[in-house]
Amino acid sequence: MTALRLENVNKSFGKVHVLKDINIEVEEGEFVVFVGPSGCGKSTLLRVIAGLEDASSGDIWIDGEHVNQTPPSKRGIAMVFQSYALYPHLNVRGNMSLALKQEKQSKEIIDQRVAEASRMLNLEEYLDRYPSELSGGQRQRVAIGRAIVRHPKLFLFDEPLSNLDAALRMNTRLEIAKLHADLGASMIYVTHDQTEAMTLADKIVVLRDGRVEQVGSPMELYNNPANQFVAGFLGSPAMNFLPAALMQESDSRTMGVRPEDLTLDPKGPLSVQVRHVEKLGGDTNVVGSIGDTQMTLRLFGQHDITPGETVTLSVTQDRVLFFNDTGERLRS
Ligand code: ADP
Ligand code: MG
Repeated sequence: MTALRLENVNKSFGKVHVLKDINIEVEEGEFVVFVGPSGCGKSTLLRVIAGLEDASSGDIWIDGEHVNQTPPSKRGIAMVFQSYALYPHLNVRGNMSLALKQEKQSKEIIDQRVAEASRMLNLEEYLDRYPSELSGGQRQRVAIGRAIVRHPKLFLFDEPLSNLDAALRMNTRLEIAKLHADLGASMIYVTHDQTEAMTLADKIVVLRDGRVEQVGSPMELYNNPANQFVAGFLGSPAMNFLPAALMQESDSRTMGVRPEDLTLDPKGPLSVQVRHVEKLGGDTNVVGSIGDTQMTLRLFGQHDITPGETVTLSVTQDRVLFFNDTGERLRS
């Protein structure tokens, strides 16, 4: 069964066309990440799926049922937002059980589901605390717990880690991955962070300016991007783009080379003027330029390279991609 299917979904606010002919399928149990720059329409798409906004045209199916006319509360979805929006006057138990009370579930079911969710999220010790007595990470876990207790067909997460600091983001990311493995539920997760997309997704949907640019597994998109936008968006440090003429005479194409596919080679064809060196301990990132073209090189381990010097590089040829002047991928 397909957990979610969108067919030719469009959304306009007045004259502003925000979502453009969106076609997406989410299989049951799949973890799908919508990723794209700020303002590309990710939240709007999630809100249309949830029923918080009506689609201007197109069709939406959840679990095989056409839901365009179905109110949010009847769609079998649960949404977790960036802002946790917990009720300050309710303790953790109260926040987690509220939706079930509103659904008029029995006390046994409510107790059982709150116990199950708080065990999964390591919140058992905190059930009697109020939101003001919790850390940011704990509050976000309560927000996730409120979604879990409802046993939704589909979880929708909208940038749930954006308000957490870097260390906590990483921990919570691992917890969400574990949660998905434990629940086996279908999940859609929105982020502008390509690392979250790469590490969490079974399938990534790359959005740009309200359109789907490409859909695929993280490694498919990394190794085989459909265009220059996807190639440049996924990967950190980002892919280098340079005029192919730098290496091959009278070539009008753009070459895409990932920082890890460049190696120090005294006989190599590229001479890069070093501007900046990031020594990370395990890796060394070297940022430099060839004329006007910025180049980033990622080296394994520690290297004594200093700004101002020139390094000579060769390129792992079978990893090079080519793009035309409108950014479309050229297949060799
Ligand atoms: P993202 O979540 O990817 O950052 P959004 O979905 O929030 O992007 O917004 C996409 C675009 O739609 C933006 O240009 C935003 O200004 C516009 N938009 C979102 N909601 C509304 C609204 N209620 N009215 C008008 N424009 C909106
Ligand atoms: Mg958003």
